[in-house]
Amino acid sequence: MALVETIRGPVDVTGLGTTLMHEHVFVLSEEIRQNYPGYWDEDVRVADAAAKLTRAKQRGIDTIADPTVLGLGRDIGRIKRVAALTGINIIVATGLYTFGDAPMYFRYRGRRSGTGGQDPMTEMFVSDIADGIAGTGVKAAFLKCAIDAEGLTRGVERVLRAVAQAHLATGAPVTVHTHPASRSGLVAIGVLAQEGADLSRVVIGHSGDTDDLDYLAEVADAGCLLGMDRFGDTDPAAFGPRVKTVAGMCERGYAASMVLSHDTACFIDWFPHDDALGGNYTQIHDHVLPALAELGVTAGQIETMLVANPRRYFTPPP
Ligand SMILES: [Zn+2]
Repeated sequence: MALVETIRGPVDVTGLGTTLMHEHVFVLSEEIRQNYPGYWDEDVRVADAAAKLTRAKQRGIDTIADPTVLGLGRDIGRIKRVAALTGINIIVATGLYTFGDAPMYFRYRGRRSGTGGQDPMTEMFVSDIADGIAGTGVKAAFLKCAIDAEGLTRGVERVLRAVAQAHLATGAPVTVHTHPASRSGLVAIGVLAQEGADLSRVVIGHSGDTDDLDYLAEVADAGCLLGMDRFGDTDPAAFGPRVKTVAGMCERGYAASMVLSHDTACFIDWFPHDDALGGNYTQIHDHVLPALAELGVTAGQIETMLVANPRRYFTPPP
């Protein structure tokens, strides 16, 4: 039996079922929310999230992996309140999301990258995985970091190395937010490989943002999973190029190297849009899977991307 931690405790990896590998429940600017709470009603938002996730569960989604970490407003107590109202499995993460500097908290603490020794960031990530998060009793089951168009800034490199070290210490897999237009997935792979990470347990997220199949093949050939994870658009017409890319990679034999997701959130406070637009967790089932089938992607390949690959990713190493 191989167990993976979820918001409700450990479950056997064979019970994960259909898994969307990059979905947020909430993305919040927590310090802004606390000081300017006019846009926030906790009870309404929790009930709304539970309703949206219940719709996803009814549509056939058993599990979501939520990479909401420090920098994105993680609050596991709030996710527990949502989970108590819905049957879907939620796997939570630890790590840090920045495109530039690490938060000021870390500036004067511990060693910078390249100077040796343990970064206090690493200890925090390991503790979230091994002991649980902030007294909630919930353990993180994967690690998240980011590298965007800004490239390998000092802060980004520090987080990547801390994440890799926590991965080595715990065996937890890794998801990286990347920016394919600047091929930043390959930069992340270079740093993670240097730290000795197991690249077969790394998702290079947002890979579906490009239609450069040669770049995608290079990332997959390094051993990583490609996160084809931005199907959250409200307008299915926008999916055309992304669907073609997934189908093209299946045709090249890469179904075992891809996972699917929306990268949506029930509520994100980054945008001034109508919050009813959030939480489109069923676009893949409603629109993407039929479109993939039309392009020749088989039911077996879809099962591989939605069930087998997530299960392999979350299976702890021996
Ligand atoms: Zn995301």
